[in-house]
Amino acid sequence: MTKIARFQLRNDKNMAARYAVVEGQQLRLIEGDIFGRWQATRQTYALGDARLLAPVDPPNIYAIGLNYRLHAQESKMALPERPIIFIKATTAVIGPDDKIILPQVAPDEVDYECELAIVIGAKARMVSEAQALDYVLGYTCGNDVSARDCQNRLDRQWARAKSIDTFAPLGPWIETDMDPDNAPIRTRLNGKVMQESNTNDMIFSCRQLISHLSQAFTLLPGTVIMTGTPSGVGFARNPPVFLRAGDVVEIEIDGIGALRNPVTA
Ligand code: MG
Repeated sequence: MTKIARFQLRNDKNMAARYAVVEGQQLRLIEGDIFGRWQATRQTYALGDARLLAPVDPPNIYAIGLNYRLHAQESKMALPERPIIFIKATTAVIGPDDKIILPQVAPDEVDYECELAIVIGAKARMVSEAQALDYVLGYTCGNDVSARDCQNRLDRQWARAKSIDTFAPLGPWIETDMDPDNAPIRTRLNGKVMQESNTNDMIFSCRQLISHLSQAFTLLPGTVIMTGTPSGVGFARNPPVFLRAGDVVEIEIDGIGALRNPVTA
């Protein structure tokens, strides 16, 4: 188990973002390139003195729609025969404890989606399913925040609904050693469990997604793949539940940790 966090020190806002290995309540500074050769140093910091950032600054974010069976059902959509791919703008990325901002253009139907996020570690192009996980650095928690009015009624496609500023929380760190095909995953809204599933219910596995995407796109180091959300999203509930100012959303994946974000107007 190795957890790699990206951080700044709270008392040094001008500090460039650095990487560190998380060791309990301390961070051990990393030297080198986490996508190449790196090593942990003797320099440590208290976790409490650090502000954790999104664990990667991705060149691209690919996302998959309807990749859990029960979520396809609750969305009243047929199971996809091949992965449904969309892109989230990298300008939407925020880190742990950063605020999800309800946008003025579409403040009323903002929804949460817990997702296992793959972080690509090495340039991948046309890789096989058997080799796909060799190109993974690790995994983090993602929240595919979505404006359902834009997604389902106002727009003809999902680009705006999924890419509004602050709509791509990632974190709290990258776990490099876990089984992506058997990880309990859940969303808590103000402490209440809203989504509860396991990545073993995915229609297309991480191996399949990486291989499939790499047939079309060069997956550069740092690329994030958001692998879809299970059932329990807000818009499909009766009555529907949408995010409101003052809410706190947590995305938790066993083996990684919890990504917590407050919501503001
Ligand atoms: Mg999603």
